[in-house]
Order: sequence, then C-alpha cells, then structure tokens
Amino acid sequence: MVDTVMPALFVGHGNPMNAIEDNEFSRSWQDTARQIPKPKVILCISAHWESRSTQVTAMETPRTIHDFYGFPRELFEKQYPAPGSPELAERVVQLVGESNVALDHSWGLDHGTWSVLCRMYPEADVPVVQLSLNRTLDTAGHYALGQQLRQLRREGVLLVGSGNIVHNLRMIVWEDTAFDWAVEFDANIEQWILQHDHDPIIHYEKQGRAAMLSVNSAEHYLPLLYVLGAGEKDELISFFAEKLWGGSLSMRCVRIG
Ligand code: ZN
Repeated sequence: MVDTVMPALFVGHGNPMNAIEDNEFSRSWQDTARQIPKPKVILCISAHWESRSTQVTAMETPRTIHDFYGFPRELFEKQYPAPGSPELAERVVQLVGESNVALDHSWGLDHGTWSVLCRMYPEADVPVVQLSLNRTLDTAGHYALGQQLRQLRREGVLLVGSGNIVHNLRMIVWEDTAFDWAVEFDANIEQWILQHDHDPIIHYEKQGRAAMLSVNSAEHYLPLLYVLGAGEKDELISFFAEKLWGGSLSMRCVRIG
C-alpha cells in the first residue's frame, strides 16, 4: 500500500509533434511530472482508442502505435518502450467488474498516450496500461467508470486522461488564434471544474452552440470525464498549459490533487 494519493491528470495533447518538439506544452507536461510523486504505474484513457466495449491493455510489452499521417519520419521512428502491467489490468477488471471490461492483448500505446508520456517520463521506466473509450456508453457512464477507478489513486496509480477539451479539426486554422465559441466553452469548463459542478460538464450537449462546436466528435472530450470522476470534492484543482490554439483546440490540462 502506498500512503500518498496520486493526482489525476487530464492532458490536452494536441498536435503529435509535441512528442518531439520542445515547446510550452511539452515543457509544462515535463514540469508537472517533476512536481508530482513518481507513479508505480500509469493508467491512461486516450482519445485515440475507441471501441464497442470497455477494454484494458494486458500485455507485458505494449507496442508504440503511430496512429497518424503526414508527419516527419522522426515522429514515425519514435518508440516508447514502457512496459505494460498485466497486474493493473487485472486490478481494473476487479474494480469495474468482469462483465464491464475485457482484457486486451492487441492494442498497445497510441499517440494520445505516448506523445505525452515520452515528455513526462522520457526514461519509459513506469509501466503503462490503456483503457479504451467504449462508445456505446453515454457520458454519465464514462464519468461513473472514472469514479470506479478512483481507488487506484491510493495504490500508486497515476490516472491520465489524454484528449482536448475543445477539439474541432474541421474548423482548425494553422495559426495562433482562438474562436470566440472555443474561448467561451473552455472558460465555462474551467469554472465548472473549479466549482465541482460536474453535471453541466457531463451533459455538455445541453450547453448550446459553443459546446456543440467545441465537442464535435467527443472522443477528445470524454477522457476528461474519467479524470473528474476519479476526483474528490474537496481536492485541490490546478490548470497548466491552458491555452487555445489553431482556433478550435484547447490545450488546457487539469490536475486534481
Ligand atoms: Zn488527439
């Protein structure tokens, strides 16, 4: 048993190039890793693994998945050889229930996971397990799963949700700017998180036009619900890398605890 309660993090991962670029985002992920206790193992919920049921990676050595196109060779050659943790996968099954999650032996680490962790833990010396996004669940179901995983924070597990609060690639412009609706939704989320008012975050579809444009396909948003579900009401909340970029992308990261 570990005495410390590990923080839970939501990381806005944005462009895969953050994996190999030294910039304000990758530096702030690095700084955060230095500020928190070193985890025994990491459980990552990435925007880039969607499935029809909840799955958890259970292999000893997860492969590095290069799930993107049109980037430089250096990024395709990047490997993140962190070990897996079949023990944590089993623990997740125990917490969530056998009928609700299945062990996976084919996925690995997608770029939602490794592009962030290779900056936070460049030595790849912390085992990593991924949990898939079950797209048959509604948002309340994702949040409830986060609540079921909360206990892991007392067992030396760092929970990381990797996505983006505002993520609309159809609207993206390759410059340093932000649309009004993106600024509005990002600020609303910030306030709701600070007030521990999770209902409007879970039911974002009811929050009007700014929410609809910001969360157009939801896979980058859903990891946030796991992290919020895994938090307690009285915990410290802080934000890092809080910046909007490309008009329709929020890089805001959230730390609970
Ligand atoms: Zn992404």
